[in-house]
Amino acid sequence: MPLRAKVASSVSRTAAALSRAAGRGDGSVIGGWIGLKIDPDLLRNLAAGRAIALVSGTNGKTTTTRLTAAALGVLGPVATNSFGANMPTGHTSALAKAGATPFAVLEVDEHYLDRVIDETTPRAVALLNLSRDQLDRAQEVAMMAQKWRTALADHPDIRVVANADDPMVVWAAIASPHVTWFSAGQRWHDDSWVCPECGSPIERVGGDWRCTGCPLRRPAAQWTVEDDGVLDPNGDWHLVKLQLPGTVNLGNAATALAVAAEFGVRAVEGVPRLAAVTSVAGRYAQVERDGRNIRLLLAKNPASWLEAFDMADEAPTLLSINARDPDGFDTSWLYDVDFSPLRGRSVLITGDRAYDLAVRLEVNGVPFRHVRTFTEAVRETPPGRLEVIANYTAFQDIRAELDRVN
Ligand SMILES: [Zn+2]
Repeated sequence: MPLRAKVASSVSRTAAALSRAAGRGDGSVIGGWIGLKIDPDLLRNLAAGRAIALVSGTNGKTTTTRLTAAALGVLGPVATNSFGANMPTGHTSALAKAGATPFAVLEVDEHYLDRVIDETTPRAVALLNLSRDQLDRAQEVAMMAQKWRTALADHPDIRVVANADDPMVVWAAIASPHVTWFSAGQRWHDDSWVCPECGSPIERVGGDWRCTGCPLRRPAAQWTVEDDGVLDPNGDWHLVKLQLPGTVNLGNAATALAVAAEFGVRAVEGVPRLAAVTSVAGRYAQVERDGRNIRLLLAKNPASWLEAFDMADEAPTLLSINARDPDGFDTSWLYDVDFSPLRGRSVLITGDRAYDLAVRLEVNGVPFRHVRTFTEAVRETPPGRLEVIANYTAFQDIRAELDRVN
């Protein structure tokens, strides 16, 4: 590395360590920010000489990044931004901290994918899905797909690993000459009813989809989820035992194996590594308290609510909703989500906007009880499993409350 980059990298590590010592999170954003101030090419310099995979999409990228890093670990040390700092400052910090590793797997915010591709020259890019992150951002889905498409067309040497079930992702990925398709399902269809190529309606039959006005259609997937395992491109089936819940995470595992395969990892080698991944940035964390086994699921947008219902067991469930700045102030998205899968479960609700949720559940025919606090919810639940599904700041509140007690 050039001297300037060495200095910048060292200062970046120190700043991150100081920030951690001061109790201000993991320090990766400030560390990266300072490093890039000293050497604007620092990310490029740190990426040079490493074989890199980027993972992007609206949902599932933190988990898929973790699983991919685990699978690539078969080959040697892997640098990764495991705290979910997924913008260039976070990438810079993660690579500076890791020192020289032959591999890196980086979670990338979908808005920054083109820039991070330019700066890191990845070997592989995984495209998971595209949906609205908040209600007022629905327009962004098509714009994002266009941005990805342009970036991939500009870098034809990248191996793209893309979700065949998401029409927006498919349209972006076909700009690349090297695409491996995986099938991870798409529960949320509301942002892809219209073809991004020609504007005609998209028709869906079972898991298949096709545009009614142009040749865009679902490509055949080489990596698929079957029962509780993954089918690889050779037709070999691998039992996948995860400590993460739901078929959503099996799909993430299939994606991770597909990406690792681009680096030469065989599925039989990668699969055992996936079982070692437990909680990801506090998500899916299980905590014992007063005889209750409490599991935390983060649901940050309409698509991820549907996924959380899939991951949660048929057990008493606490839903918590806030509408603070990071959550978006508008709660009308509640009407985009079908809560009926919760019928038949004992449902408790809490959070700043519990009353908005109450109205929504009433309309959806889901019986519920309101509790004022998380502690009250625990008291109201019989010993055994309690599933907690919360949006962003509500999730942070509950984690903070659990940390205080434990
Ligand atoms: Zn079309």
